[in-house]
Amino acid sequence: MALTNLQVRDLETVLHPYTNQATIRDTGTLVLERAKGIYVYDVDGKPYIEGMAGLWCTALGYGNEELAETAYEQMKKLSFTHLFGGKSHDPAIELAEKLKEKAPVPISKVFFVCSGSEANDSQIKMVWYMNNALGRPQKKKIISRLRAYHGVTIASASLTGLPANHTDFDLPISGILHTSCPHYYRFGLEGETEEEFASRCAQDLEDMILREGPDTVAAFIAEPVMGAGGVIVPPKGYFEKIMAVCRRYDVYMIADEVICGFGRLGEWFGSSVLGYKPDAISVAKALTSAYMPVGAVMIPEEMYQATIIESKKTGTFGHGFTYSGHPVGAAVALKTLEIYERDRIIEKAAAKAPQFQAHLQALADHPLVGEARGVGLVGALEMVAHKPTKKAFEAKAGLGAYATAIAQEEGLIIRNLGDSLAICPPLIITPEEIDDLFDRVARTLDRTLDKAK
Ligand code: PLP
Repeated sequence: MALTNLQVRDLETVLHPYTNQATIRDTGTLVLERAKGIYVYDVDGKPYIEGMAGLWCTALGYGNEELAETAYEQMKKLSFTHLFGGKSHDPAIELAEKLKEKAPVPISKVFFVCSGSEANDSQIKMVWYMNNALGRPQKKKIISRLRAYHGVTIASASLTGLPANHTDFDLPISGILHTSCPHYYRFGLEGETEEEFASRCAQDLEDMILREGPDTVAAFIAEPVMGAGGVIVPPKGYFEKIMAVCRRYDVYMIADEVICGFGRLGEWFGSSVLGYKPDAISVAKALTSAYMPVGAVMIPEEMYQATIIESKKTGTFGHGFTYSGHPVGAAVALKTLEIYERDRIIEKAAAKAPQFQAHLQALADHPLVGEARGVGLVGALEMVAHKPTKKAFEAKAGLGAYATAIAQEEGLIIRNLGDSLAICPPLIITPEEIDDLFDRVARTLDRTLDKAK
């Protein structure tokens, strides 16, 4: 199909993130123009259900007037001031208060950033900083997990446990390690129960800590449910066992709530749903429902005390971004959290979860689907070549990408993570729209099956 004028100009000028730069030259991009509710519209006016909430982020959907007005009013009132060197402003203070109030574990202070990558990068720097302040400079290694996703800056991409983020980027940097991925369907052994698998994952972590030397291991980071790694829900009891290991060796625990935070799993924080009690938390995405790029690092008192010790030594806590706590972003985040509370968005999302998960599980019977998995309003369907043996399709067949393209024809935006199709709609989706979304998913699978045969 001939590319449109906009598509051609796009390819001439824009280097697209996370895109196959070779194939896109033939397919062109989907150029979107406007959006409302759960729908986005392309330049020809065709509507699509945004079945991925953008990139797991537009919890309140599109075209929310209140958020737009909040941004406009804040821009008129105080478009910018920073938080450096003793400056502050009301929206940042109130937002920090609100995040502390909502946190599932005791939080002392909130450090603002603009993205999930910046949040996790800051977490690493702060862990190193804290252990220097505490006089244990050798305790610096950070353990992440295979298939984790924590971002793309040099340090956060190192935490990420996916090959495409490391290969030929000369990553990961040293001192960042990856322990096993808690995906029972893929990595559970023949005859092993979920519980035994969870114990084995915890044992892997302990073995790694002992091998490296506990006095060299500073922190462990995990998403409650892995997102970009394929929507991996850990087996029951997993975090309990992992936490016991971390506590045994004085390993600081970080929860990456960038996707799971603010209702995605049916509670304010995914950690609560999975029984994970971290020391520190990273948030972004649904914090503003993606109306503004805002993230935050939520830290415990011991980390705050470390920043005081170091400030006395060097004269400042030498970390911060120009836009840390940007007043417009902070005002929009605050309004977003107000809407979540006032309109009971998170309780309502939890109430819709059984319907969403039932649709997902019903598709487990489809001939292409090896595993249907999810929790709350997020899930994935893993397509396999042979269900009894869980044999995967050859990567070069590109079936996941094919299915995504078919979904697009069906007026549905989903995302393939390899051959797993991720579904993560705005939390405001109605029960009728959930039915419609899964009708489109079912048609997509049927049409993909024709190709797979
Ligand atoms: N952490 C998690 C769990 C994520 O899913 C993402 C992005 O998808 C990030 C961190 C990185 O966030 P950003 O893309 O805003 O840098």
